[in-house]
Amino acid sequence: MRLGELTWEEAGKELRKADFVLLPTGSFEQHGPHLPLLTDSIRAEHLSEEVARRAAERGLKILLLPVLPYGVSEHHMRFPGTISVDPLTYISLIEDVGRSLARHGAKRFLILNFHGGNLAPLEVAAARIRSRHGLRTYVLHWTSYAREAILEVLRPSPTWGHACEHETSIVMLYRPELVRRERIRRPRVKARPSARAFYYFDEISDTGGLGDPARASADKARIIVERATEAIVRVLEEILRLEEEMGAAQGGSPAK
Ligand SMILES: [Zn+2]
Repeated sequence: MRLGELTWEEAGKELRKADFVLLPTGSFEQHGPHLPLLTDSIRAEHLSEEVARRAAERGLKILLLPVLPYGVSEHHMRFPGTISVDPLTYISLIEDVGRSLARHGAKRFLILNFHGGNLAPLEVAAARIRSRHGLRTYVLHWTSYAREAILEVLRPSPTWGHACEHETSIVMLYRPELVRRERIRRPRVKARPSARAFYYFDEISDTGGLGDPARASADKARIIVERATEAIVRVLEEILRLEEEMGAAQGGSPAK
């Protein structure tokens, strides 16, 4: 069920009933010579629907928000077309979405993220939403739940992670007409020190991508999506179970 397709009267009821209100977070950034700028947001749209559908089959009620198509992408700004939100703006925006949901009585806010650059600001925003507005907020990075299946099924090259065999496979599955197959080439990827540091993507890769997109396959994507969707729905079930236990430990006080 999509929150944006409801009227305010319907939304008033559904927001209080839903187990999770789900915000898919994507990006608008270069994805090599063969994938579109909206790659992460396309993944966000389809893969969040998969999660919502599977969750519904298991009796969980999810209200879907529209994908947030912009993310924190300064590291891709040297490539044309990339649009990046400042991390502090991003934290504020996510907090405002959470604050609004809290005002309307939502029980839980679930952020399903599809772009690594969003992760640090999302964690800050999630902490603020809980501490300032009382709404329990969970951040799940989709690829973390797909990692095992990706390694097993795609056997990606060691540098995979962006516009690579994994992301190319997912776009091939849902929007094959957007993959420029004739433009697929293997990037030259430079090694980085193990310390955390900020790099622009053209310092690391000559194409803007990582890994080996030539290994991509829609059939393999199907298997990965199936396993990741299942893993994420299990986490949602776990959240509900553990919240109940925490509530019981606090003498049955409501989970706020
Ligand atoms: Zn991506």
